[in-house]
Amino acid sequence: MRYPGGVTALAGVSLDIARGEMVAIVGPSGSGKSTLLNIIGTLDRPTSGTVRISGQDVATLSDRHLSALRAREIGFVFQQFHLTDGLSAAENVATGLLYAGVPRRHRGQRARHALARVGLAHRAGHRPHELSGGERQRVAIARALVNQPSLVLADEPTGALDTTNGRAVLGLLHRLNAEGTTIALITHDRDIAASLPRQIEIRDGRLVRDAGAAHR
Ligand code: ADP
Repeated sequence: MRYPGGVTALAGVSLDIARGEMVAIVGPSGSGKSTLLNIIGTLDRPTSGTVRISGQDVATLSDRHLSALRAREIGFVFQQFHLTDGLSAAENVATGLLYAGVPRRHRGQRARHALARVGLAHRAGHRPHELSGGERQRVAIARALVNQPSLVLADEPTGALDTTNGRAVLGLLHRLNAEGTTIALITHDRDIAASLPRQIEIRDGRLVRDAGAAHR
C-alpha cells in the first residue's frame, strides 16, 4: 500500500484469517497496523494486491456493492469510540443500521438488542457524556454488532480505557468470538496480545511474525 506522497505503508503482506479466529495485530507506531486493518475492512483499496472477503475479490465490486458488503459483514471499533454526542446510546447504535437497508421501524428494536448483548440495556437512553469510557466503548461495540457482522475489526479498542474497563471490553470481545464472530484487533498491550490465540506482528510495513494461526 502506497499513500500519496510516496509512503509505502505495507508491502508484501500475505495474510489469511479464517472464520472464527481471534487475531492480535501488534507492532510499533507507524508500522502499518491501521493501514492493514483499513485494507482488510475495505475502507482503503490497496495500490496493488488482492483482498478477499468470504472468497470474493473486493476489487471486482462496485462502490455500492462494496458498501453493502461492508455494512453486512464487517463491524468497526475505534480507540476513540466515535459516538455522536447529541444521540442516545440506542440512537448511536442504530446509526450502524443506516447503510444496511434495515427499515426504520425495526431499527430501535435491533439497537436495543445489540445493547443488551454488551450488557447495556439499562443505558439505552443515556447520551455518551453520561456514560463511562468503558460503557462508551461497549456502545461502540454494540453499533459494530448491530448488523450481526461475521468480522469485527478493532483499532486499539482498549487504548483509551483504564485497566478495569479495558479488561471488560476485551472480555466482551472474547465472548463475541466464542459466539462465532471473527475478530482482528490492533493492540499495543502485550498482555492483551498474549491473551489472543494468534498474534501477527508488523514492522516497517512487513509481516514479520505470525504465531498461533488456527489453520496450520
Ligand atoms: P500504525 O497503525 O502501525 O501506527 P499506520 O498504518 O497508521 O501505522 O501508518 C503506516 C505509515 O503510513 C506511517 O508512516 C504513516 O505516517 C503513513 N500513513 C498512514 N496513513 C496515511 C495517509 N492517509 N496518507 C499518507 N501517509 C499515511
